[in-house]
Amino acid sequence: MKVVRSIPSARRLMEQWKLSGVPVGLVPTMGFLHEGHLSLVDFARKKVGDNGKVILSIYVNPTQFGPAEDFQDYPRDLRADLQRCRNRGVDAVFTPDDESMFPWRKEGGKGTFVIEEAWTQAMEGASRPTHFRGVTTVIAKLFGILNPDYSIFGSKDFQQAMVIRKMVVDLNFSTKVEMAPTAREKDGLAMSSRNIYLSADQRQQALCLRRSLLSARKLVRGSAAGFSSKQMKSRLEKELSKYSEARLDYIEFFESRTMKTVRKVSRGDHMALAVYFGNTRLIDNGKL
Ligand code: AMP
Repeated sequence: MKVVRSIPSARRLMEQWKLSGVPVGLVPTMGFLHEGHLSLVDFARKKVGDNGKVILSIYVNPTQFGPAEDFQDYPRDLRADLQRCRNRGVDAVFTPDDESMFPWRKEGGKGTFVIEEAWTQAMEGASRPTHFRGVTTVIAKLFGILNPDYSIFGSKDFQQAMVIRKMVVDLNFSTKVEMAPTAREKDGLAMSSRNIYLSADQRQQALCLRRSLLSARKLVRGSAAGFSSKQMKSRLEKELSKYSEARLDYIEFFESRTMKTVRKVSRGDHMALAVYFGNTRLIDNGKL
């Protein structure tokens, strides 16, 4: 497995691979890899085939964290990450540093951001106002540097994957954006690098996200007349209020193809929610 740290060496590697005519799949991550990330590696491998190449990027992107968020404390363990990638058959890991990715940010300098304006206003965008412009900017940079045939994102961050799809269409990038299913712990909690912040009690109570999704699905599928999103929200809020450690940030219902919020929730619509446990904020989503 190759480990490339600089942008020029990443470009050189990509040129070599392109010359040999094999497809390349990119899995962008912020590291501290868990089975969810590695399931994206497997997904990428299926897309590019045994002869294709899978490159995983590890970069804790400072521009997608708000000023009061956990950028400094975000968990990092490069050595373990590299070992996990090797064991999973990753062909190359790209780990650039801040100096090469955002040289203009030094001493408060200004530069270029990529901003998607259609699907970034609600949910994660409402709770984290500068988050998505950081995500779209860093992903656009990775596409510019690596120009992968496929790029794989987790449906765990459904809104993010949709925003990137929109950016790819709007800005004519040639990569094919693929969304891989959410990997979960045995008890249903969506895997996340942030789960390690949870106390034992919070970890137990964090099951409320998945339970809310399942109970919303049951409600929608069990009623011919259906429910308004307002009714759905108040029922779910009531259920969530039984979890003493959980503080709801948002629950939204929307049409998954257009990201439009729905007033009346029907089977096939999408639900997403975010819940705080202390300072730790967890998200989940699913089709109803
Ligand atoms: P992150 O390192 O949290 O930025 O995540 C990198 C990529 O892994 C994103 O595309 C995430 O959606 C994806 N991802 C994170 N957790 C999971 C999970 N539990 N299942 C599937 N994909 C995930």
